[in-house]
Amino acid sequence: MTAIGCACAASFAQHRQGVAGPYQWSEGAEAVPPRDDGRTRHGDLLRELGLDGLIDAHSHWFPESVMRRIWDHFDRHYWPITYRQLPAGRLEWVRRNKIKRFTTLNYAHRPGMAAWLNEWTARFAARTPEAIPCGTFYAEAGVGEEVRRCIEDYRFRGFKLHLRVSDMDPTQSALHPAFEQIEAAGLPVVMHVGSAPEPGRFTSPRYLQALLERFPRLKVVVAHMGAWEWETYLTLAERLDNLYLDTTMVFVGFTACGPHPEALSPRLEGASHKILFGSDFPNIPYPLSHAVNGIGRLPLSRQAKRRILFDNAAALFGLESV
Ligand SMILES: [Zn+2]
Repeated sequence: MTAIGCACAASFAQHRQGVAGPYQWSEGAEAVPPRDDGRTRHGDLLRELGLDGLIDAHSHWFPESVMRRIWDHFDRHYWPITYRQLPAGRLEWVRRNKIKRFTTLNYAHRPGMAAWLNEWTARFAARTPEAIPCGTFYAEAGVGEEVRRCIEDYRFRGFKLHLRVSDMDPTQSALHPAFEQIEAAGLPVVMHVGSAPEPGRFTSPRYLQALLERFPRLKVVVAHMGAWEWETYLTLAERLDNLYLDTTMVFVGFTACGPHPEALSPRLEGASHKILFGSDFPNIPYPLSHAVNGIGRLPLSRQAKRRILFDNAAALFGLESV
C-alpha cells in the first residue's frame, strides 16, 4: 500500500501554487481535494447508476523513464501531478477508484519510438487484467507492419495519436497503411485533435475531417470533447456514427481545457451514446473522483451518465466481460 497524500489546507495551497502557465482553478474549486485520500468519493454516484465500477477510456501508461520526462515537462509548463507513485502504486489508486478497465494510451514524438512503446504496452497488458491495450504509430518506414503487429500479434483494442506532441499531419499518405488496417479491423483511435491546452500545426478539425473523407468507417474518439473546437467536434459526433468524444479534463474545476460552453449542454443528452469518460490519469492535478463526480453533476439522465461512465466504452473497445 502506498502512502496516502495529505489533504490539509497547506498542501492544497502549495499544490495550487505549482500551477504554471495560463492554467488555473475555476472559482468554487476550493472543495476539490488536492490529493487522492483513498476514499472513493464517487461511490454514491456509482450506486445511484447501478454500477460497481467504471471504465476510463483515456489514461496514460508509459515506460517509467518516459513518464518521468513527461512529468518534468508538466512541472515546468503545466500543472503538478497528483499521482506520482511508482507503477504498482498507480495501479493501486486506479483500483481504489473502482476503475474496472482503463486504456493504456501512449504516443511517439520521433521515429523509432512507437515500436518500443507498443512492445512495452503488450508486456504491461499481459500482467494487468484491467488494461485495455492500445497501440500507437508514427509516420516512418514500417508503419504498416507495426500496426499489423499491434492488431494481429499483440491483439490491441485500439490506438492513440497525439497530433500536437507528434506534430504529425494525419492525412499524409505515409500513414495510409496504418489507417487502412485500423479501419478494416474496426478498432477505435483516440486522437488529440483539438487545440487545448496548446494548439499545434495539425489540431484543426479540418485535418480530422479530411482523414474521415479518406477513411469513412474509421472509428475516432476525439479527446477532451474536442476542446477548444467544442461545437465543431460535437456536431461531427452527432452526424457521424463512427465519431466519439471523451470527457478528459472537461467538466472539472481546473481550466486546462477552458470551461465547456454552457450553450452546448442541452445537446449532451442526445449525444450521450457517443461520449466516453476519460481522465488523463495520472497526469492530472486533482483526484480521479473529481473528474468522475463532474459527470454526475451534468444535467443528464441516469441512463446517459451510465453510458458515459461505462456502457459506451465497453461496447466500443469490445469488452466481453468487465
Ligand atoms: Zn491525454
